[in-house]
Amino acid sequence: MTDEHHHAPPTSPVEDRVAALESLLVEKGILDTAALDAVVDHYEHAVGPLNGARVVARAWIDPAYRARLLADATPAIAELGFSGPEGDHMVVVENTPEVHNAVVCTLCSCYPWPVLGLPPTWYKSPPYRARMVREPRVLLAELGCEVPPDCEIRVWDSSAEVRYLVLPLRPAGTGDLSEEELAALVTRDAMIGVARL
Ligand code: FE
Repeated sequence: MTDEHHHAPPTSPVEDRVAALESLLVEKGILDTAALDAVVDHYEHAVGPLNGARVVARAWIDPAYRARLLADATPAIAELGFSGPEGDHMVVVENTPEVHNAVVCTLCSCYPWPVLGLPPTWYKSPPYRARMVREPRVLLAELGCEVPPDCEIRVWDSSAEVRYLVLPLRPAGTGDLSEEELAALVTRDAMIGVARL
């Protein structure tokens, strides 16, 4: 990446198209901007990565839930009340001492909204999308996520069909923590797989 672009990047053709479509729908009275803002606000602030953290904490303390989550994530996540658009076909991939999982959308920005909210800007950036496939270990190290050399890295490509969520390793020394305290330890980046707890 170069240092040339510290100003806001120009809008992409897709963004332009979305903006044009939105203004047209508003003009025709089909769409209400306030309603649209409310949807975005909901996913940015009410959902956020908090829901995913609750799923992870439950999986850490409840082996039967963890088994259901890994076998068929969508209904297991819905058990906690989380479902909806961009989360219809969820797959949870579990980190182990031998395997570290990381998630990308190579095509665009597919992301599990019901558990993580809206994707961060870097997740949508072309360098992240390309390098997570080409050189994940190097990219992860640059992001401050050191994966031990003997730990395999598996990269999962989210799409319109399937959205992935990483189940991070439960940190050592957390045996006495409550489910709520455990959830507070779980970060968005750990559930994307660009951080380790
Ligand atoms: Fe995508």
